[in-house]
Amino acid sequence: MKLAFLGLGTMGYPMAGHLQQAGHDVCVYNRTRTKAEHWVQQYGGTLADTPAKAAAAADIVFTCVGNDADLRQVVVGEQGAFAGMKSGALLVDHTTASADVARELEAQAKARGFQFVDAPVSGGQAGAQNGQLSIMCGGAADAFARAEPVLAVYGKSTRLLGEAGSGQLAKMVNQICVAGVVQGLAEAVHFAKRSGLDGRALFDVIRHGAAGSWQMDNRHEAMLDGEFDFGFAVDWMRKDLGIALDEARNNGARLPVTALLDQFYADVQAQGGGRWDTCSLVARLERD
Ligand code: NAP
Repeated sequence: MKLAFLGLGTMGYPMAGHLQQAGHDVCVYNRTRTKAEHWVQQYGGTLADTPAKAAAAADIVFTCVGNDADLRQVVVGEQGAFAGMKSGALLVDHTTASADVARELEAQAKARGFQFVDAPVSGGQAGAQNGQLSIMCGGAADAFARAEPVLAVYGKSTRLLGEAGSGQLAKMVNQICVAGVVQGLAEAVHFAKRSGLDGRALFDVIRHGAAGSWQMDNRHEAMLDGEFDFGFAVDWMRKDLGIALDEARNNGARLPVTALLDQFYADVQAQGGGRWDTCSLVARLERD
C-alpha cells in the first residue's frame, strides 16, 4: 500500500520504519529534514519537503506530532496533508491530542472527501521500537476497518472505541492511570533507597506480586540509577494531563490526584527535566 508518515520523532521514526519493513511503500515528512534523510538511509522509502507532497500519492496518511497546534499545522496548514491528499484517502492520527481537535479534523476530512481516525498510542518508545503498541481509536467503522490491518504492523492491541475523539478520550484515561502509578513507584523507590535495601533484588521479587506494573517492570532500574534521558518526556506528560484536566472540567469528573501530579511534573520541569522521562518524578523526591 502507498503510505505517508508525517512526524519522525521518538515514536514516529520506528513506527514508520515498521510500515516500510512490512512491505508498504512509505513516503516520510519531518520538519527537521535531517531526520527524514536518516530514516530513508536506514529503511528505504522516500521523503518529501512538505506534508502535502508526502501525502499526495498515499492511500493512508499517518501523523505523529506533538500537540493540537502542531497537528493543525501539519494537517490543515497551507502545506498540510489535506492540501495534498487524494480523494477518498484516510488520515490516521497517532498524536496525543484533544478530543476536540479530533472531531474538528474529522469534520474537515469529511467535507473534503477524506476519512479520519484518531489513534493515540500507549507503550512508550520501547513499544514503538518493538511494534507492541496499544492503539485506542475513534472514528467511523469503515475508516477503522481500513486502518486496522495496517496498524497491526506495530499494534499489539488495537480497538475502535466510538466516534471521532473516542481514541483521545481513551488515551486520557490511560494517562490518568499512568500518573498515579508512576508517583506510587517513585515513592517506593525513594523509600527503598532510604531503607538500605538492594533495589534490584527487591523489585525483582515484588514485580511478580500485586504491586507489579508496566511502570515497575520498565522503569524501576532507571529510577534507582537516576537515568532519565530517554523515553516519554515530562513536557509531553504535562500536555497530556492538561488535556485530561480540561476534558474533566467539561464532563464533571473529579481528578484530584491527577491535578496534583500535574503540579509535581511542573516541579520536575523547574528542575530542568522537561525532556526527562516521566519516571523522573523520583528526582523531585530526592531534591535537596
Ligand atoms: P518527539 O520525539 O518530540 O517528536 C515530535 C515530532 O513531531 C517530531 O518529528 C517533530 O519534528 C514533529 N513536530 C512537532 N511540531 C511540529 C510542527 N509544528 N510541524 C511539523 N512537525 C512537528 O515526540 P514523540 O515522543 O515522538 O511523541 C509524539 C506524540 O506521541 C506526542 O503527542 C506524544 O504525547 C505521543 N506519545 C509519546 C510517547 C513516548 O513515549 N514518547 C508515548 C505515547 C504517546 P522535529 O523533528 O522537526 O522536531
